[in-house]
Amino acid sequence: MPKIIELDPHVADLIAAGEVVERPASVVKELMENSIDAGAGIVTVEIIAGGMTYIRVTDNGCGIAPDDAKTAFMRHATSKLRGAEGLEAIATLGFRGEALAAIAAVSQIDLLTRESGAGEGVSLTLKAGEVVDTSPAGCPEGTTIIVRDLFFNTPARQKFMKSDRTESGAVASAVLRCALARPDVSFRFIRDGKTECHTPGDSRVDSCIYSLFGREFSAGLIKAESTDPTLTVSGFISSPSAVRGNRSYQFFFVNGRPIRSKTLQAALEQAYANVIPSGRYPSCVLYIKTRLSDVDVNVHPAKTEVKFVSDKQVFDGIYYASLSALTQGSTQNEEMGNDSDKLLDDAVASRKPQSKASEGFRSMQVDEYRKPFDHGRQKADKTMYGIPSGTQLSSPGDARLQTPFPALFTPDSRSSSLRPQLAQSGFRVIGEVLKSYIIAEYQDGVWFIDKHAAHERIHFDALKSDGFTPMSQALITPIVCRHGSEDVSLLLENEKLLDKLGFTVEGFGEDSVAVRRIPSDIDFDDVEPVLSQICTQLRLGGTAEPARRDDIFRTIACKAAIKAGKSSGIHEMETLAARVLSGEVSHCPHGRPVAFELTKSALEKGFSRR
Ligand code: ADP
Ligand code: MG
Repeated sequence: MPKIIELDPHVADLIAAGEVVERPASVVKELMENSIDAGAGIVTVEIIAGGMTYIRVTDNGCGIAPDDAKTAFMRHATSKLRGAEGLEAIATLGFRGEALAAIAAVSQIDLLTRESGAGEGVSLTLKAGEVVDTSPAGCPEGTTIIVRDLFFNTPARQKFMKSDRTESGAVASAVLRCALARPDVSFRFIRDGKTECHTPGDSRVDSCIYSLFGREFSAGLIKAESTDPTLTVSGFISSPSAVRGNRSYQFFFVNGRPIRSKTLQAALEQAYANVIPSGRYPSCVLYIKTRLSDVDVNVHPAKTEVKFVSDKQVFDGIYYASLSALTQGSTQNEEMGNDSDKLLDDAVASRKPQSKASEGFRSMQVDEYRKPFDHGRQKADKTMYGIPSGTQLSSPGDARLQTPFPALFTPDSRSSSLRPQLAQSGFRVIGEVLKSYIIAEYQDGVWFIDKHAAHERIHFDALKSDGFTPMSQALITPIVCRHGSEDVSLLLENEKLLDKLGFTVEGFGEDSVAVRRIPSDIDFDDVEPVLSQICTQLRLGGTAEPARRDDIFRTIACKAAIKAGKSSGIHEMETLAARVLSGEVSHCPHGRPVAFELTKSALEKGFSRR
C-alpha cells in the first residue's frame, strides 16, 4: 500500500464539491436557499446554456458585510449554525456552510453584495476557490452571485453533463420547487434571456400554483388540510378526475423545504386507493409543518431527504388530509377553480380539443372510459368465477380458422368487405353483453371475448413487429401539452420512437410540446396522459431494454384499443372474433386471457341434462 497522506485542501474541496454540486440545478438550488435564508422577498434566477456557462441569482435579502464576504466562501463557514445544539432544530435551509465553497471550487464567481442600510457594498471575484479581485462597489441592497464556467477545472464531472436542454430543465424544476416552497417570495426565472416563470410572492398558495402551472392544472385541484397539535398539513391535491400517468407533479414540503419521500408519497396515494385506476397518480402540493425538533434535515448532502421522529404521524397527517379532501371534494374543487379564474383572468384559456368523430374503432372521453372499464373489469372476474363448475376454460389456440384475416389496422378491415369472408368461416357473432364482451358461437361452444383485451393484444403485437406503421392522423391544429421541461427533453430526444408509435412531436416553449400527428386510434384527450406515461417509462430505462420498450407499447395498445363500456358495431365484433378464434391472440399484453369457451357439455351440465 502507498503511504497515507492528508489530501491537499484544494483536492479535498473538489471532492466535497462533488457531493453538493452535481449539476447546474444543484448550484441554483443552493444559491436560492441562501437568498431565502437571507430573508429575500424577491429572487431572480437567470441561466444561459443550461447553466453551464452562466448562472445568476439575485436577491433583495440582508446582504453580506464586506468583512464577511471572503469568509462566506470558506469550507464550513456559515452564519446559520453556532454549535452542535443548533443541529437539533434547524430553521434555515442552509446550515452546513459548504455550498459556496463547493461551488467556488469548480467555477469562476462574481459576488456583488450590499448589507441593508450600508452606504456601500463589495464586489469579489473568485477563480477555482481563490479570491482574485475584491473592491468596494455601488450596488443595490441584497446579493448577486454569478457563477461562470461550471466544472471548468473538473473535466471528469463535465463529461457527465447532459444536453443544455436537459440541464436547464433540471434547473427549471429546482426553481419550481423552491418557488412552491415559498409562496411568500416572488421568484423570476429567466432562461436564455426569456422569462420562463414569475410567481407573485403574495403568500397565497393558490396564486403561486396558478402562476407556475396554469389554469387547467389549478382547476383540477382540491384543498386538503389536517391538524394535529404538533403537525399540520395544508395545500392542494388532485381531484380524482385530474390524476396523471406519473408522479412528476407530487410536491411535498416539510417546514418550508422541498422533500422527496416515499412515506409521504405512499400516504397520499393510499388515500386514492379505491378512487382511481392503478397506473394513475395524484398530483399534490402539500405543506407539512412540524416542530423543528421532530425532523432531522441533516441526513442528505443536498438536503432533499429528511428523517421524521414519527413516520406514522406524518403518514397519518397526509393520509387523512387527503382522504377528507376527497370525500368533500367536489365543492372545494369549484373553490379553487373559481379562485384561480379571479386571480389571473388574463391567462390563456386552455385548449380543449374536440373529440374526433367516432368512426370504426371509436374512442371516448377519459372519464367515460375509466368508470365503466374499471367496473367492467371487476364484473369480468366475477363472471369468470361464477360460471358453472366443470366448465372448461380453454384457449382457442387449437381451433385454427381456414381463412386468414387482414390486419385490423389496414383501412380495409374497417370496410364491410370482410363480412362475407367471416360468414364462410363457420362462426357467428351473437352480439355483445355489458358493452364489454362479445359472444360468439363457434364449433361446439359459446365463446366470450373481452373486446378491449383482444384488441389491445392485436395492437401490441403489431407495434412489436418490425416495419409496422400505425395509421396516424395529422392534426390541423396541434395539441399543446404541458409536460415540464425534463419530460419535454425526453420526448424530443426520442423522436424516432414516437414516430414509430404514430406521434410527431415538436418543442413548444421550454415546458410544452406541440403534437402534430397522433395514432388514429387514440382519443385527443388521451394524448397528454399517454405522452406522460411514455415519459415515465423512458425515465425508467428508455427503449434500451426490451421490457421497457414493451411497457411503452402496452401503454399505446391500451389507449388505442376499443373501450369496454362502449357498444361495438357488428363488423368490429366480427373482425375481433375472427382474430381471437383463429388462435392468433389468446392473452392480453398484461397476461389476462382474452376469451374463454363455455362448452356444449358445460351448458348441458348447467341444465342437468348430463
Ligand atoms: P450555509 O448556507 O450552509 O450557511 P453557504 O456556503 O451556502 O452555507 O453560505 C455561507 C454563508 O454565506 C451563509 O451562512 C451566509 O451567511 C452567507 N450568504 C450566502 N449567500 C447569501 C445571500 N444571498 N445573502 C446573504 N448572505 C449570504
Ligand atoms: Mg447555503
